[in-house]
Amino acid sequence: MNLDLRTMMVMIAVLSFLFSILLAVASLHARGVQGLRHWALASFCISLGSSIALPNLHAGQGWPVVAGAALLAAGSTTQLAGIQAFKGEACHIRWMIAVVVAVGFFSYWFSLVHINIQFRAIANSLVFGAINFTCARALLIRLPTPERTAHWLTGASFAVLSLIYASRAIAIYSAPPGTYTLFSPMLINPVMFLAGSVIQLFLTFGFILMVNYRMASQLENLATTDALTGAWNRRSLELELQRMLARSQRRQEPMSVVMLDVDHFKLINDSHGHRAGDEVLRQLTARARLEIRRDDYLARYGGEEFCLLLPGTTELDAHQLAERLRRIQAEQTVDWRGTPINSSISIGIASSEHTGLNGDALLEAADAALYRAKQTGRNRAETFSQFRISPA
Ligand code: GH3
Ligand code: MG
Ligand code: MG
Repeated sequence: MNLDLRTMMVMIAVLSFLFSILLAVASLHARGVQGLRHWALASFCISLGSSIALPNLHAGQGWPVVAGAALLAAGSTTQLAGIQAFKGEACHIRWMIAVVVAVGFFSYWFSLVHINIQFRAIANSLVFGAINFTCARALLIRLPTPERTAHWLTGASFAVLSLIYASRAIAIYSAPPGTYTLFSPMLINPVMFLAGSVIQLFLTFGFILMVNYRMASQLENLATTDALTGAWNRRSLELELQRMLARSQRRQEPMSVVMLDVDHFKLINDSHGHRAGDEVLRQLTARARLEIRRDDYLARYGGEEFCLLLPGTTELDAHQLAERLRRIQAEQTVDWRGTPINSSISIGIASSEHTGLNGDALLEAADAALYRAKQTGRNRAETFSQFRISPA
C-alpha cells in the first residue's frame, strides 16, 4: 500500500492535539462526570509523543524515539485511567508507571544499546495491544441502552486497535531476521498508522458520546426520581399510571393503587428533628421496595405520602400487601443516633374492580380510603370498597 507513514504520523499528532483541546473544553462543562480530563491529557501525550518521534522516524533510533514511545504509552495508559475514572473505579497508577517504563526501556534497549528494531517493534506492539485490549474489556460490559451503545462503540474501537497491534507483532515476528524497518514493504505498518489516526477520531467521539449519555441519564434521573428517598417522583407516577392503565386495558386485567401516609409525622420531626424525619422516610421506602414486585411502582406522592401502583393486582391482593407493609412499619424502629424512633403508617387501597380503569378515579378512591384510615384511628389499611380488615 502506497501510503506515506510520515504524513499519517503528522495527522495523528495534529488530530490528537485538536482532540485534547476538544476533550479539555468538554470537561469544563461536565461537572460530576469523571474521565474527560484524563482523555484530554491522553490525547495530548499521544500528540506530543508522535511529534517527538516524527523527525527520527526514518532512522528509527535515538532518544527522541525512546521519549516518543514512552509518551505514546503514557497516552494509552491515561486513556485506560480515564475509563476507570469514568466508571468510578480505582485507577492503578503503579501499573501505568510500569507500562510506561517497560515501553521506554524496550525502546531504549533496542534503539540505543542492542540495536534491533524488529524486537523493539514486537515488544512495543504487544504492550500497546495489551493496553488497548484492557480498555476494550473495561468498556464492553452489560449496560442499559443508550449508555451501552456509546460504551460498545468505543470498546469496539479499542478492540480493533488491539487486534491490529497483535497482528503487527505476528507479522514482524514472521519477517526474516534483520530485514525489518518501519519502512519495509509490509502492509501492517500503513494499516497501523491509518487505523491509529482514524481510531483516535472514533475514540474521541466515543468518549464524548459516553459522557453525553451519562449526563442525559443523570438529568433523567433528576427529573424522574425523588432525591431524598430514591423513589419515583409524582411526575413519573402520573406518566406511569397512564401507561399501566393502557396495559391493563389491553390485557383485560385489574390494577390497584395504594396510598401510604406516615402517622403523626409532624410529631416525629418536632421531637427528633427534620433529619430524623428524613431517615424515617428513607427507611420506609427501602422496606417497601423489598416487599413489592418488580412490576410494581413506588413513588413519593407528597411530603410523607407515598403511592404504589400495582398492575395485575386485585383489591384483595393489594390489601394483603398493604397489611404487610403496615405491620412491618409498626414493628421496625429507626435507630436515629442511638434513639429508637417508632412510627406507623395509614394506608388507603383502591382497585379498578370498583372504580374502572380511570387514573383520577383510582387516585381519588385511594385517597378517600386513606382519609378513612386516618379517621378510624391510624395504623390501619382501608379499602375504598369498604372491605375492611382490622389491624392484628
Ligand atoms: P397525620 O397522621 O394526620 O398524617 O399527621 P402528620 O403529622 O403526619 O401530617 P401533617 O400533614 O400535619 O404533617 C406532615 C409533615 O411532614 C409536615 C412537613 O413538615 C413534613 N414533611 C414533609 N416533607 C418532609 C420531608 O421531606 N422531610 C421531613 N423530615 N419532613 C417532611
Ligand atoms: Mg402523615
Ligand atoms: Mg400527609
